[in-house]
Amino acid sequence: MLTGPMEFDVLIRNGRVLDGTGAPARAADVGVRGSVVARVGRLHGSKAGRIIDADGKYVAPGFIDIHTHSDVGILVEQTAECAVRQGVTTHVIGNCGDSPAPISDEYRELAVRRFEYYSNARDWKWSSYGEYLEFMERRGVGINIAGLVGHGAIRLAVMGFEDRPPIAAELRSMRGHVDEAMRSGAFGMSTGLVYPPGCFADTEEIAELAGVVARHGGFYASHIRGERETIVDAVKECIDIGERAGCPIQISHNNPKYGGIGKAREIQKLWESARSRGVDVLADNDAHTDFGPPLSHALPQWTQKLRTADLIALLKDPAKRQELKAEIIADRKPGAGYVGLLVHERFDRIWLLRRPGDPSKEGLTIADLASGRGVDPWTAYFDVIVEEHDRAVGLFDYMDIEEIKSTLRHPLVMICSDGWVAPKEERTSPTAPYQPCTFGEFPGILQRFVVEEPVLTLEAAIYKMTGMPAARLGLADRGLVRPGSAADLVVFDLPRVRDRATNLWPHTYPFQNYPHEYPEGIDWVLVNGQVAVEDAKASGTLSGRVLRHSRNPRRSIKA
Ligand SMILES: [Zn+2]
Repeated sequence: MLTGPMEFDVLIRNGRVLDGTGAPARAADVGVRGSVVARVGRLHGSKAGRIIDADGKYVAPGFIDIHTHSDVGILVEQTAECAVRQGVTTHVIGNCGDSPAPISDEYRELAVRRFEYYSNARDWKWSSYGEYLEFMERRGVGINIAGLVGHGAIRLAVMGFEDRPPIAAELRSMRGHVDEAMRSGAFGMSTGLVYPPGCFADTEEIAELAGVVARHGGFYASHIRGERETIVDAVKECIDIGERAGCPIQISHNNPKYGGIGKAREIQKLWESARSRGVDVLADNDAHTDFGPPLSHALPQWTQKLRTADLIALLKDPAKRQELKAEIIADRKPGAGYVGLLVHERFDRIWLLRRPGDPSKEGLTIADLASGRGVDPWTAYFDVIVEEHDRAVGLFDYMDIEEIKSTLRHPLVMICSDGWVAPKEERTSPTAPYQPCTFGEFPGILQRFVVEEPVLTLEAAIYKMTGMPAARLGLADRGLVRPGSAADLVVFDLPRVRDRATNLWPHTYPFQNYPHEYPEGIDWVLVNGQVAVEDAKASGTLSGRVLRHSRNPRRSIKA
């Protein structure tokens, strides 16, 4: 039946449709009207404003990236080209305890310092979580955004970087912030329990706040308290919080890091047994074994709040260096996963990625650098931070690829990037951060773990990128291709899909194919019915939406 001269605004013809439920592909056409999928089936004679020929290609729901750090990036690069070029149409932001709101007047200076990297950040004036979302909405977004409120942001707003439990009034104030964020549309709360100030919080404090999230029907996402030696206890703590608070939990990037390698199966059993007790546990992970932070980020947490000049002065003092080294090795308050390489003195797995003062040394390991200079590796590590005035960036190779595959295969695990929307110029800038995940994660999974090596079936990989995260978020109308669902769609040519954002795979040194190229084979992407990628070129549309959590009943997750 025709509803007018044109039955559809967009008709995707002759594709093989992966509907996002994990079912095998079937031949079908997809008709889009406005921002919604109107029909799926044999629609050959239909008239449409625009016809996309998907002959030989797959049509899937736009990918939902359940774990990103695009909170500020999406305000700077609203089109989110690095995401849509991968077929990603939704980002979950606010992970690892870090969201740009709330901000209190008392601690505004400390909070805003985190965005200084972006030149116009000083003009951003929100305080509450709701104001932040409204600010984002007014600017417009090229992908859909689902926000989590960061416990670290809340704690900073109430107590700064105090390393102690909150007093009753402070806890009340934190609960109020969680409540405000949830009422404003947050999908849940995240923690980062290895980063300041999240690492200063005990289990009690978090369970209390997760209880507020539970009352609003949200979920609790956590970068747990140590992903290496303490990973088993940290997973137990996370499950305990979910159980006490009555809150679904999402364990972030839950693959063991160096120092905990080999424990994947043990933590998978913890997820499984918690689930059998009725706790709604899920996890997510990306596919990269390495990470590229500034070398100074692997130093103890308390040094992170120092001004550069103070950090350099500290590192110039030989006695202080010895204390730092001892503190790192003792590892009493576990730092981030990559710190494990320092704890175990694996300087042969830390490469110099950026060394602006002497780029000829980029690609050397710290171990190489040390032996070339005839010093011990700790000395070389500290020296380079000082020489480069804290601009030296490392590449920490701190995970095991076989274990990552086992994690990705697990039925309770979704696929994420752990990346962030980055300005276009960062793709080719000589000082771009290392972020292959930002430019190539999803095509990389399809290329390497579906086509080249059958770690996942195509339909399972797509389910972990679409229907599964949509169900976790309670988004009944996304993550599926069926009549009535949002027209977030991707058309890809599987044999041509290439992630071109890594420095080759496995890594080669010195680095090649870097910075990041956009992927190949992702031919068309629609965001809410608007064409965001057309023949592998971004249109720059801002048809994304700032999504608000509602208490709709969740779809169940098949596991
Ligand atoms: Zn994290």
